[in-house]
Amino acid sequence: MNLPIFSFHFFFSECSFTYEEEELSLADVCSFFEKIGLNLGSDPLQKLTSGYKQFLLEHFSELTKHNPEFHGVVHSIKNEPENSFFMVFHLGNGQPFPQEQFDKIDLYVDAIHRVENIEKLELNELPMDEINKLYQMYIEYYKNHLNPFEELYAYTSIKSNSKVMTKISSQEGTEVKLCRFCFKDSTKITFKKKAHAISRGLGNISIFCLDECDECNEHFGTTIENDLMAFLSVQRMSVVNKALEVPYENLKLKNDGNITVIENISESIVEHEDFAELTLEPKEKFIPKNLYKALCKVALSIISEQADLDSLQDTIKWVRSTELTSHDSLMNIGLFHELNAELHVKIHMWTRKGEDKNLPFKIIRLEIGQTSILYALPFASNQNSGLDLESLINKLKIFKDKEIAWKSVEDVHPIKIKTTLRIPRKT
Ligand SMILES: [Zn+2]
Repeated sequence: MNLPIFSFHFFFSECSFTYEEEELSLADVCSFFEKIGLNLGSDPLQKLTSGYKQFLLEHFSELTKHNPEFHGVVHSIKNEPENSFFMVFHLGNGQPFPQEQFDKIDLYVDAIHRVENIEKLELNELPMDEINKLYQMYIEYYKNHLNPFEELYAYTSIKSNSKVMTKISSQEGTEVKLCRFCFKDSTKITFKKKAHAISRGLGNISIFCLDECDECNEHFGTTIENDLMAFLSVQRMSVVNKALEVPYENLKLKNDGNITVIENISESIVEHEDFAELTLEPKEKFIPKNLYKALCKVALSIISEQADLDSLQDTIKWVRSTELTSHDSLMNIGLFHELNAELHVKIHMWTRKGEDKNLPFKIIRLEIGQTSILYALPFASNQNSGLDLESLINKLKIFKDKEIAWKSVEDVHPIKIKTTLRIPRKT
């Protein structure tokens, strides 16, 4: 495959995407920038004037003729308010935009749009002091809450709300493709189905893993994913079908944007000052060890570096196998709740920067509804066995303000656990 000479990454206030084409030549790049009134050395910060918006819409609409994926881009640009600000970075030689910078740039664009009457200002009129102050506040928040592992781990995140399709693969352009889960190659198996990197049942319609074969897709869909769905039955209400009515043993709830209780057959609501706390008894059981496997499968699906996957061969084999006994003890997972529900699934992934085998190679936080699940991948070849995520979190003094409940995932029998849900009081 020829690498594109250049690609662009756009950060709008509502979405961000990479635009790259294999055939993009330097001349194309120059004319692209010329048309939108930029030269290659320009400041990445730009204002989306009506002319600009028009040009981008025309340019990407043209591309949808050959590549339907650009419909998402066109849709996103259409929704972007005129005279808002955005950033565009151009990258050479097909380099991807450094994932670690994504969240910080999003925060910067966010800080700009907090300025009063921002749409009336020109680029050179932006109150940079005010914006920088706000951005510094955001960065403090980022360090304390979003990426508290920054010293030891590289951070990436992925969210399922994107209108733009994300396709994950560690082997782009190779002729014979390998399934990352069963290691069989494309001469023996097929890759016809779209494999959701995060389960469809968690509301993901835009993030796909291209390296999962149809057999594995079928296998995961009929086994461990059911445990994940059963475990998250309460939280799923926030991220899937809004009008969904979800019955539990003791309560009937409805979610039409706000979650309301429509039937209560027990004393399971406790009123607090700011919220009502419901204790829900799900109908379905799950097997804790399968739940952990399913969480690991989600994490394995969003990795795009082959070297990382190479270190996780044993993890992959364990996730793909049906055996429930394991040769090693498993790390506990941590659960905590927040009052504000995430309306889209978000996965935060930290990858260890150094060689310290006493630190887990990959740490993950899966955020769905009001719940966050903290876990680490087991059996990586570059980490010691018998690690303990809980003591690491305590030692690093991170997530201090969260009440984390640590759960063992060793159990191989189906269980039910009660889940709490907090409904904020309307003011
Ligand atoms: Zn496979």
